[in-house]
Amino acid sequence: MLYQDLVNLGQEFGTPLYVYDAEKISSQYHRLTKAFSKVENFKIHYAVKALSNVSILKFLKNLGSGLDTVSIQEVQLGLHAGFQPKDIIYTPNGVSMQELETVAALGVQINIDNLSILEQFGTKHPEIPVCIRINPHVMAGGNANISVGHIDSKFGISIHQLPHILRIIENTKMHINGIHMHTGSDILDVDVFLYAAEILFETAKHFKSLDFIDFGSGFKVPYKKGDIETNVEEFGRKLTKRFLAFEKEYGRTLTLAFEPGKFLVSEAGFFLAKVNVVKQTTSTVFAGIDTGFNHLIRPMLYGSEHFIENISNPKGKERYYSVVGYICETDTFANNRRIQEIHEGDILCFKNAGAYCFSMSSNYNSRTKPAEVLWYNGKGHLIRERETFEDILRNQVVLEI
Ligand SMILES: *Cc1c(COP(=O)(O)O)cnc(C)c1O
Repeated sequence: MLYQDLVNLGQEFGTPLYVYDAEKISSQYHRLTKAFSKVENFKIHYAVKALSNVSILKFLKNLGSGLDTVSIQEVQLGLHAGFQPKDIIYTPNGVSMQELETVAALGVQINIDNLSILEQFGTKHPEIPVCIRINPHVMAGGNANISVGHIDSKFGISIHQLPHILRIIENTKMHINGIHMHTGSDILDVDVFLYAAEILFETAKHFKSLDFIDFGSGFKVPYKKGDIETNVEEFGRKLTKRFLAFEKEYGRTLTLAFEPGKFLVSEAGFFLAKVNVVKQTTSTVFAGIDTGFNHLIRPMLYGSEHFIENISNPKGKERYYSVVGYICETDTFANNRRIQEIHEGDILCFKNAGAYCFSMSSNYNSRTKPAEVLWYNGKGHLIRERETFEDILRNQVVLEI
């Protein structure tokens, strides 16, 4: 995609606007499958929570992807997009037994992450195959809030509780068809992954009839030139070798699965916002834009630094700016950042806006949510309309008082 394409889309569809490049999603998907091409049964389950637009899900389905879901609504979105239940894995945390049963009844693969529910589910439905989410206690992740595999984490069943897991299985006669781990996002080091994988292999030996091992996600993507990223090719070579050896030892063909969100869609996304005001103060120059953390919360929520370019003036001389949103509390996208000279009316482009951006947006300050556009076959296609005031009123019950 060219800057001019983005500027044109911003003018055609208005701002703020989310744009996704289908080509990038597809190239990331193929990069991962290629890295594991020597594994006979390799499966990608796209993590829906990263970006859950139905057109994006359909696009991924056409690429051959399955889905990783964390709520019954995400399961419903997947089915709505045309996925087969068997291509969906459901990995919730702390949901009710009832939701779990409803999803299982749809034929979706269940992944259980605590002993209490494992025992209840196994007692009631020993015939339904279940995957177990193991917490290998590997410290990983770029930020305390997205690091989910450590000792204090609420996710997964501790590897130290393996004897208890095995006792539940023996008592209930339930069938475990998969084991899973997801150690957190932004793992910088392939060896950290491999270390956790060894723990999973060791665990797998205790289960006699597994169909798959799911290694979760955590692929680190670059945010700007020179950023560290997961070396997917090296990782593919190393894990493939270990996996094939394990399969032999295990004596049965297994599916190797991953569930990437960010890796597939982060870099495919661009968030466009217009500069409403350039405000010089005694300490800085603010660029105030027509959006806020209601539409892109990651910088305020966990300090993500989205690269920002002024696509209306791409060749402009760089100056220092603080880019701020219009929400009435601290709402900072970037502090003291070098950006091409900004004029009021310019369109700024936030990079890496595909994952956890629109899907985390809200109506705070009673603002409507932006539109979404998929850039596909050299053309922008509207895949979500901009909300209107009607949407703000929807579901409100106005009392006659
Ligand atoms: C969020 C999540 C993912 C995706 O993580 P990314 O860092 O976006 O790739 C995968 N699996 C589970 C269980 C998750 O909760």
